[in-house]
Amino acid sequence: VRPALRVRGLSVTFPVSGVDIPAVRHVDLDVPRGELVALLGESGSGKSVTARAVMGLAGEGAQVSADELTLGDVDLNSASARTLRELRGARMSLVLQDALSALNPVLTIGDQLGELFRIHQGASKKVARSRAADLLGQVGIPAPAKRIDDYPHQFSGGMRQRILIAMAIALEPELLIADEPTTALDVTVQAQILDLLGSLRTQLDMGVLLITHDLAVVSEVADRLAVMYAGRVVEAGDADTVLSRPSHPYTEALLRSVPRIEHHGGDLFTIPGSPPNPARVPSGCPFHPRCHRAIDLCSSVRPELLATADGRTVACHRSEEVLDAHSR
Ligand code: SF4
Ligand code: MG
Repeated sequence: VRPALRVRGLSVTFPVSGVDIPAVRHVDLDVPRGELVALLGESGSGKSVTARAVMGLAGEGAQVSADELTLGDVDLNSASARTLRELRGARMSLVLQDALSALNPVLTIGDQLGELFRIHQGASKKVARSRAADLLGQVGIPAPAKRIDDYPHQFSGGMRQRILIAMAIALEPELLIADEPTTALDVTVQAQILDLLGSLRTQLDMGVLLITHDLAVVSEVADRLAVMYAGRVVEAGDADTVLSRPSHPYTEALLRSVPRIEHHGGDLFTIPGSPPNPARVPSGCPFHPRCHRAIDLCSSVRPELLATADGRTVACHRSEEVLDAHSR
């Protein structure tokens, strides 16, 4: 495995009224090149903070610490602000949900894309323009040579998201982080964008970290997944293994709340309660107030994240019983 991203013991805290509030706690994460890793969890679980911390964009006042944080052969942990700035876009890219606000409304798509090649690769105007058109074709924009002089507002939401992906892959980064890239789009377009990310990971031999609250969107495309709850990874492993046989009750509950085609009528399962405020995380296992499998031990002792025989990691006192419940 050639890692694009390797994270060990990442923690991020934010000062709120003089108190340090932990948003991410000792997170381990691997994104190999050529693979798509889904980082899953409800909103507020620490997924986006993890992504921003990796990019060196944790924000004002954030305290980031990690035992290891590497992008390929680069130690991000000790990198200067300047180095991080140079790496962003060139070797690691971030795609966000809102394509319209990420694109410059007064520049044509061709100019915005071409600028990347001119600035970073010293390409001539003509070369930059033809590379921009190639790139638009690569992300599935029909008739790119005709669309290159159009402005962002002349494209649909799905096409704008493709353009944003084009900008993110222009310099062939080894890591692409996509934070809820499809949330604003309808279901059919969502699937197309995920397919695109899936094929780009292979074509460009790039690691993709896909951040989402929606398990339905990852099941087809993810190679591996990591599930976060209250700032920690609670289960991680091969996507097929985890999705076919979850070993953590939270993963189990996320799976039960995915709408299925074969699901006729009846209300969809929703996980009771809501994720904890990072300033007031419950004692013991942070999921215990919402867990359908909780026992007495769960409210007092926090389960460690441990490796299992089938190659995943899980943090639950009852993971073996959960696994058993899904074997047949
Ligand atoms: Fe549920 Fe207990 Fe497992 Fe936490 S440790 S997920 S409360 S069974
Ligand atoms: Mg988020």
